[in-house]
Amino acid sequence: MIHPATDVRQVSETIGAGVFAIAKIPKGTILWVLDRLDRRVQPGQVDTLPAALARAVERYSYQDPGGDLIFCWDAGRMMNHSCDPATVAVSRTLEVARRDIEAGDALTCDYGVLNMTGTLDCQCGAPKCRRQVRSDEASAHLAQWDAWAADAWAAAY
Ligand SMILES: [Zn+2]
Repeated sequence: MIHPATDVRQVSETIGAGVFAIAKIPKGTILWVLDRLDRRVQPGQVDTLPAALARAVERYSYQDPGGDLIFCWDAGRMMNHSCDPATVAVSRTLEVARRDIEAGDALTCDYGVLNMTGTLDCQCGAPKCRRQVRSDEASAHLAQWDAWAADAWAAAY
């Protein structure tokens, strides 16, 4: 479930829609949690879904460590990638604000933590943009992501 002080807006023709804050959200705030309404789909089940749902699952889900696809029921599935994300995963089921987020700021996460199977050409615009998000690069960024998570989580309390 995505934080209620958010909305979905068009980012650009290339990127499509994204999630934005509609109020100030302090660093350390829990922004997304995996909940029971999020749909878990085993990869072999996608073809058994109604066509429109299968297309949505393929476009908007992420893969958990066990290989299942997680299709968020709400706007959480619309969160875009950034190499300098506004949120950070502190567990497999929880994302928190990595910094203070102002109304109008995009809520982004790093797709590198989502067990990607392919390569994403990145146009996030961050000064340290990796240009590509690849499935084989997670180990190179784990220390940075852990440091971000520890820093953000410390601000939660
Ligand atoms: Zn980038």
